[in-house]
Amino acid sequence: MTLRKEDDFNEWYIDIVEKANLSDKRYPVKGMNVWTAYGWKIMRSIDTFIRQELDATEHDEVCFPLLIPETEFKKEKDHIKGFDSEVYWVTHAGLNELDVRLILRPTSETAMYPMFALWVRSHQDLPLKVYQIVNTFRYETKQTRAFMRVREIHFFESHTCHTTEEDAQRQIEEDVEILDRLAKRLCLPYSLLVRTEWDKFPGAHYTVGIDTVMPNGRTLQIGSVHHYRTNFSVPYEITYEDENGEHKHAHQTTYGMSERLLGAVIGVHADDAGLIMPPDIAPFQAVIIPIYSKNNADAVRQEAQKLFALLTAAGFRVKFDDRDLRPGNKYYDWEIKGVPLRLELGGRDIENGVVTFARRDNGEKGTIDASSAPAGVDLILDAISAALLDKAKKVQQSHIQDIDSIDDIPEDRILRFGWCGCEECGHRFEDAHDLKILGTPFIPEEFDGKCIICGKPAKPVYAARTM
Ligand code: ZN
Repeated sequence: MTLRKEDDFNEWYIDIVEKANLSDKRYPVKGMNVWTAYGWKIMRSIDTFIRQELDATEHDEVCFPLLIPETEFKKEKDHIKGFDSEVYWVTHAGLNELDVRLILRPTSETAMYPMFALWVRSHQDLPLKVYQIVNTFRYETKQTRAFMRVREIHFFESHTCHTTEEDAQRQIEEDVEILDRLAKRLCLPYSLLVRTEWDKFPGAHYTVGIDTVMPNGRTLQIGSVHHYRTNFSVPYEITYEDENGEHKHAHQTTYGMSERLLGAVIGVHADDAGLIMPPDIAPFQAVIIPIYSKNNADAVRQEAQKLFALLTAAGFRVKFDDRDLRPGNKYYDWEIKGVPLRLELGGRDIENGVVTFARRDNGEKGTIDASSAPAGVDLILDAISAALLDKAKKVQQSHIQDIDSIDDIPEDRILRFGWCGCEECGHRFEDAHDLKILGTPFIPEEFDGKCIICGKPAKPVYAARTM
């Protein structure tokens, strides 16, 4: 039985992940799934784009130890409060009980900052910009879901130190530009919302959440950017000597994203027949399927191999599927895997000097010239990327709704309304409707409404149910 995305998004999602064989959840630790070859190929492409972006913006890749001493973890009081209930503890080494217990990193502030205190000496050492791509661990108590809610999380985190708050602010703006380029490759629309005081990252001055809308009207946070001011550099004693010989605390930021990016790609783009991979991260951008008929197998195979060599040499990731199966069975398999473009080659195509294509995203069919196949494939893949992003943006827009009263809250919508900014009104709204205030727009929006609770002058704010 085929599960329908529009009927039951959650069940459909689980089914698609399993059918496409992206991860195996039968590993005997709940919430810690095995990355299968196909899923890991996609994640590696995403990581590659992250590395390219961070390297190009003068961040240095590092790799910190997984274990963090309890004494370091507890230095920043809000941070420990925020993470206390979700960390994994190491209490023994061999048969010995440890004097100082260790945690598996849930994120790496408390691993990195004692070292930053040693590395940063003078204003000449700043800005310090490092990142790592590692696994983090959080004891998730809600229902786990592949890529979206897991206990061992494949994670990217950048950490920066600056001389001034303004320089740290410029870093946040650079992070947003990096996000925009990455999101385009994944064909994902997103919103940037400054989280409420009670929802910001533990220890942060402020947090910008990066959310994308799932087809069921719930939002998925795919990343976040934090400005710390000196909230961590004070307890961790990260100081520098300025031009006048004065010692000052560094201003810090972080930027984090995770395998949820893949969860979002699946949720936003896939359909009832399987995945639809954005061409930039598809393990195979095109699959070549030979169509054999009587007595022409050798000639067709030879042409298909030529086409494969031509496209591969041009830099495309291509699969030549020469398995002994009917073409229809092959179509079905590659549809599930979400290969963006299917290329068919039969006797008639060869006679006419063309290759027949079928787009995975919209089913469109046609032919391209065999002799200039790379140029033809390039055009179609670009068109697929543009169409995926455009469609996803329309879905996101269609879920956003302005409201001016709390009496009539529509289901499955991202709501926009006025909020005066006080905690009391914020909590009253959240408690009454089991909705989360996602925050105020990071990029200001025109708005002239009043607070939906108290009627005072207000800023726009977004609220939704979350995945
Ligand atoms: Zn109010």
